[in-house]
Amino acid sequence: MSKVLHQFLQDNLNDLKDKGLYNEIDPVEGPNGAMITIGGKELINLSSNNYLGLATNDHLKEVAKKAIDHYGVGAGAVRTINGTLDVHVKLEEKLAEFKGTEAAIAYQSGFNCNMAAISAVMDKNDAILSDELNHASIIDGCRLSKAKIIRVKHSDMDDLRAKAKEATESGLYNKVMVITDGVFSMDGDVAKLPEIVEIAKEFDLITYVDDAHGSGVMGKGKGTVKHFGLEKEVDFQMGTLSKAIGVVGGYVAGTQDLIDLLKVRSRPFLFSTALTPGDTVAITEALQILLDSTELHDKLWENGDYLKAGLKKLGFDIGESETPITPVITGEEKLTQKFSKRLFEEGVYAKSIVFPTVPRGTGRVRNMPTAAHTKEQLDEAVKVYEKVGKELGII
Ligand SMILES: *Cc1c(COP(=O)(O)O)cnc(C)c1O
Repeated sequence: MSKVLHQFLQDNLNDLKDKGLYNEIDPVEGPNGAMITIGGKELINLSSNNYLGLATNDHLKEVAKKAIDHYGVGAGAVRTINGTLDVHVKLEEKLAEFKGTEAAIAYQSGFNCNMAAISAVMDKNDAILSDELNHASIIDGCRLSKAKIIRVKHSDMDDLRAKAKEATESGLYNKVMVITDGVFSMDGDVAKLPEIVEIAKEFDLITYVDDAHGSGVMGKGKGTVKHFGLEKEVDFQMGTLSKAIGVVGGYVAGTQDLIDLLKVRSRPFLFSTALTPGDTVAITEALQILLDSTELHDKLWENGDYLKAGLKKLGFDIGESETPITPVITGEEKLTQKFSKRLFEEGVYAKSIVFPTVPRGTGRVRNMPTAAHTKEQLDEAVKVYEKVGKELGII
């Protein structure tokens, strides 16, 4: 090994370990459902993004297996050579139906989708107004485009308006985009899309909403844009197929012209192999489940409200979440980590989230209740929270 690399790795790893920032990964031994097994220990799982339980849904497993039997395990090529199977076309039609748009394009992941779509449209002569709490993949997608990135204070509409005015009146940029998460995953708050769209109209901004945590959750399952009835106003409805939808992949839904351009311009679509047939068919079926019924969505909210009420009654600070995402804010980083560790020992898996993922002094244990949890599991989790919360003097 190169001596320079060896030194670099040692320095970085030791530094992270000294600061307590080196994340140890716990492999899950089995499905990532309402209960998980880690190190042979069974735990109530409050850390997955499997909001609707679809990642472990029996019907989806069946359709994926059938697709594998018919098509094989891989798509065999990138979409633009001959990796576009008929199932990819069906998926994209279903996505457009689900999102209420003319067309849609699927990518291999949500992260990859943000890399692909932003830089296909924006370049060094443009500017992007980006909420300061936007997801890492938005930040990286913006950087890749080489557009000027203008950070906007979190959900601050006065700041957005002022910066939109300045950017558009400066004459420095050809195009200006405003980009935001639909649901912010650390606090569970929802972007102020009606105001954002109004400002966008006033200054002719391109609008891009990353609804990774909103699809399947908001708008009766159809997402945050649908929740506000803005399907015709938002240019890019971007999302992931790996959270509530339960499989893997990402997409943009929008006008036919937008999707046509993305299909010839976005590099991961041209240079990275298509989604596997098993995944593609499972995703299409998952979307159909959400189009047919709001049962899973309703159950998710019922469970979210139930867990929130239980934790709030005990006196925990659960923040200002507007979605089933339920943070328990403990503040100081070391206490947050201790809290999560004790919950684990008592049978609840809820991950601690600390600086730099969230601001210093706002450490929290984040809970992701799902439609797959039973009331008994949530009751048990609240009981464990009470015991550990009292033990550590948090309540
Ligand atoms: C999770 C997430 C992504 C990435 O999606 P993947 O499909 O997991 O790559 C992108 N944006 C936001 C806001 C996310 O929360």
